[in-house]
Amino acid sequence: AALSRREDVDIKGGWKTGQPVPYAALTKTFALIEATTKRLEKTALLTSFLYLVIQRSTEGDSKSLLQAVYLCINRLSPDYIGVELGIGESLLIKAIGESTGRSIAVIKAELKKEGDLGLVAMNSKNSQKTLFPPKPLTLSFVFANLREIALTSGHSSQAKKVSIITKLLAACQDFEAKYIVRSLEGKLRIGNAERSVVVALAHAAVLAEKDKAGKKWSKEKLTARLEEGANTIKSVYSELPSYDEVIPALLKFGIQDLHAQCKLTPGVPLKPMLAKPTKAIGEVLDRFENKPFTCEYKYDGERAQVHRLADGTVGVFSRNSEDMSKKYPDLVEQLPNCIKESTTSFVLDAEAVAIDRTTGKLMPFQELSRRKRKDVKVEDIQVRVCLFAFDLLYLNGEPLLKKSLLERRELLREHFQVVPGEFDFAKSSDSETVDEIQTFLEQSVKDGCEGLMVKMLDTDASFYEPSRRSINWLKLKKDYLAGVGDSLDLVVVGGYYGKGKRTNVYGAFLLACYDGDSEEFQTICKIGTGFSEEVLQSHYDVLKPLELTKVRGDIKVGGAKPDVWFEPQIVWEVLTADLSLSPVYTAAQGLVEERGISLRFPRFVRIRDDKGADDATGPEQVAEMYENQALAQSKSKKKTGGD
Ligand code: ATP
Repeated sequence: AALSRREDVDIKGGWKTGQPVPYAALTKTFALIEATTKRLEKTALLTSFLYLVIQRSTEGDSKSLLQAVYLCINRLSPDYIGVELGIGESLLIKAIGESTGRSIAVIKAELKKEGDLGLVAMNSKNSQKTLFPPKPLTLSFVFANLREIALTSGHSSQAKKVSIITKLLAACQDFEAKYIVRSLEGKLRIGNAERSVVVALAHAAVLAEKDKAGKKWSKEKLTARLEEGANTIKSVYSELPSYDEVIPALLKFGIQDLHAQCKLTPGVPLKPMLAKPTKAIGEVLDRFENKPFTCEYKYDGERAQVHRLADGTVGVFSRNSEDMSKKYPDLVEQLPNCIKESTTSFVLDAEAVAIDRTTGKLMPFQELSRRKRKDVKVEDIQVRVCLFAFDLLYLNGEPLLKKSLLERRELLREHFQVVPGEFDFAKSSDSETVDEIQTFLEQSVKDGCEGLMVKMLDTDASFYEPSRRSINWLKLKKDYLAGVGDSLDLVVVGGYYGKGKRTNVYGAFLLACYDGDSEEFQTICKIGTGFSEEVLQSHYDVLKPLELTKVRGDIKVGGAKPDVWFEPQIVWEVLTADLSLSPVYTAAQGLVEERGISLRFPRFVRIRDDKGADDATGPEQVAEMYENQALAQSKSKKKTGGD
């Protein structure tokens, strides 16, 4: 069944082995994927396409598959290199106008009606009469041009971009214009998350290997191999998140040997391990009962994954794998001071925290966020940072992910040294009673931290789990204990104009959570109180360029009626004291009840620029928070005898 759609996704007459992949085959696949809501069918379509790409590539050509996969997830490079699309609407409208001869006003009017510039581009192209069909586009040609557009910067770059896009559009047929424009916008909107692409890639590779070897497998064996293949690629990719490395190795060595070939490598940031929230110390003890665990300070700064290659090159990466070396040149400069002689290459997991160098006091995240994000010069730095290392993932040529935390921590302390105000080990306590944990928690808050991280210390349950929100790491924040609950990370999708003095800015905002399975944003609340004039102005400056002419198709609106819609890009951390069922908002609809869930009295905490829109809180978490709250309320009613 995984390959049942080969004929559908192929183009008329197919393409011969060794010939470049036609872009039309990819866009045909996209169109079929977009037309179905069935997940299995989407995966079968993509598997069939990637299988054809593998089958028809010559031995040693991994570029075709690599570029096909990148275009399926709409990226052009690994995250940490950050070659990004996301071309503004007005530039695209200009290019569509230039290549089709339609006026800007007509294109804008149609965009207002359709709400999808890709569709408008396709319609514009198809209504154009051409005498000769253009030369077919190849996937590698489109890929190279998209990269050129993304990398063009500096003087007259806008004009250069418009010119490349215009030429690309001139060569488009059928569905091509629709998907080129959507790729350029930075969102394909075919309802195919990266997870499904990885599964399809694995299935295609397993099936191609099977055919090549001329093997016959029973249905059971095939199913097992497909599942195993998908798990292998997922796990390898979370350790080495670079298709540039993984795909050539996959084709060269095969899926079964992939793990041995692709391991954590300094210079390529791995997806960090994350923690689950807990509400009470009792919950921690329930989870870790009779197992060794450790409590560490949960520092209130920014996650920093620090890499050092054997040649001495240093890289600092964010939670999102962005290269932060330009933001933290001071960390890069300080680093040699804390390394002992025996240490050559390593990957540290750490938190960069603002510190007052004269008193040695830690300062809150707000202080750290005052630092510039780019092109920082060491001599201009006002807010100093100290690096608190809590894990060591790689040392002197060897990945440590499959060692216990106890061993990793020992190696960390053995190979690094404390430099006051610059580098320290995360403060930890291996105490086990409620009283001891309570005391340590209070101490952490007094010392300027958010609370504690409680971690499994020994056995394989304490291995480092890249990209997982694991129950082997629990976070215990002081806020949870005060009954405030965890904060949510929500995407700003709409704005409401202000009143009175605030008419020139947005006075309130529509927020949404993100469902990674359906790839849709679900509205959750309107937030409009507690902002100062200054903060509203800065939100306006950030959000104004993201205004859209019409709501995007992947926003499940419900009854919300903001004055303007935004490209969903900006993530805010928000606290709430209360969640309730709502007939207006769509968050978590159908999970607890038919109705959605909304936040009452939401409070803005901070911008999370280390998170992308697809890292926002998901509907399951919202439903879980609602249910926990209902549970807590019924418990307290029982205690007070209320009904
Ligand atoms: P949060 O809003 O809590 O930071 P998050 O989704 O970014 O949420 P979590 O897994 O919930 O990440 O919390 C872990 C974060 O806490 C890490 O990403 C890291 O930045 C920070 N942190 C601070 N101290 C530690 C520590 N000792 N161990 C692990 N993480 C720590």
